[in-house]
Amino acid sequence: MKITKVETFVLSNQLKETFFFSQWTYSERRICVVKITTDEGVSGWGEGYGPADVIKAGINLVTPLLIGENPLENETLWHTMYRKTLDFARRGVLAASISAVDVALWDLKGKLLNQPVSVLMGGQHRKRVVPYATGLYFSESDNLIAKLVTEAKTYVEQGFKAVKMKVGLSVSQDIKMVKAVREAIGNDIALMIDSNHAYSLREAIELSRAVERYDIGWFEEPVSPEYYHHYKELRTKTTIPIAGGECEYLRYGFQTLLENDCVDILQVDICGAGGLSEAKRISTLANTRGIEIVPHVWGTGIAFHAALHFIANLEPIPGRLYPPDMYIEYDRTKNDIRESLTSPSIEMKNGFIDIPQRPGLGIDVDEEVIRNFSSEILI
Ligand code: CA
Repeated sequence: MKITKVETFVLSNQLKETFFFSQWTYSERRICVVKITTDEGVSGWGEGYGPADVIKAGINLVTPLLIGENPLENETLWHTMYRKTLDFARRGVLAASISAVDVALWDLKGKLLNQPVSVLMGGQHRKRVVPYATGLYFSESDNLIAKLVTEAKTYVEQGFKAVKMKVGLSVSQDIKMVKAVREAIGNDIALMIDSNHAYSLREAIELSRAVERYDIGWFEEPVSPEYYHHYKELRTKTTIPIAGGECEYLRYGFQTLLENDCVDILQVDICGAGGLSEAKRISTLANTRGIEIVPHVWGTGIAFHAALHFIANLEPIPGRLYPPDMYIEYDRTKNDIRESLTSPSIEMKNGFIDIPQRPGLGIDVDEEVIRNFSSEILI
């Protein structure tokens, strides 16, 4: 059995309404997905997290290493791609290209062996996970707080048990927004905050202490991902758990976060940090230090399903008779590509999402949707 084809697609969709967070404005969805096909005509799908056109170029770079190879040997293929890119990009977007290929190879392997990816990864420690709604971004509005309150209540009505909101406009504005959202959702819904590294250490300490009273599940990316020592110090200054890692790559990058005692919750992005193969290695590193993982998830149903299988396979720490439920990030911002690309559609029942039991990632990709959203390549 051999890989015969690696096809990349850049999908794009202009948003009717732009929204923003502490770093920049979103006016377009732009996503790179990859399809890998064997000589027997079986295909697997993957997706990269980050600048789609650059990810596509990175996949083109490693494609000659894949053609003619056995797709079942996905770890050796991972290593070959890693060696090819190591000298030029030990961290960053080429890791996202490798991630996309790695996810596609796992999907392919599952289809070839007729098993769900999480079973092939070693088994399912759990059959369902708790999605938390990622939303509550900023928008140009005369009354942003009222808009956030309405959106937060919608998530509760939809059955979410947890929501995550953006902060990072300013400490004083954030405090008002967090108070309003907590009051809107009541005390039974978990609430997390994410500043996308908007703050200095001093500001992050000030905000943390001011919102501790609102029972915050975690404070995500409080400070710059470059300042490991600031992460460490912040943890000693607040009772709110600190989360981060979506800008980190490969086991070596995550080792730095872990060795510096930066986080309580590690947020590996499977489609950016090195794929399912590398995410599993990173989970072993985290496990040796007793650090929880809640993966960062952004993109289409391909990325979401990769995360479902990864979380199903995560070893519980600590083990006990009634382990706590685990979270999955569920982006609820407007994204027509995400909503239409894969089937079956994601279903939340009583606040839970079931782990897929079909072979591979457990999804079908609609190639008509691929054609409809296919974009001209910008570079
Ligand atoms: Ca985030």
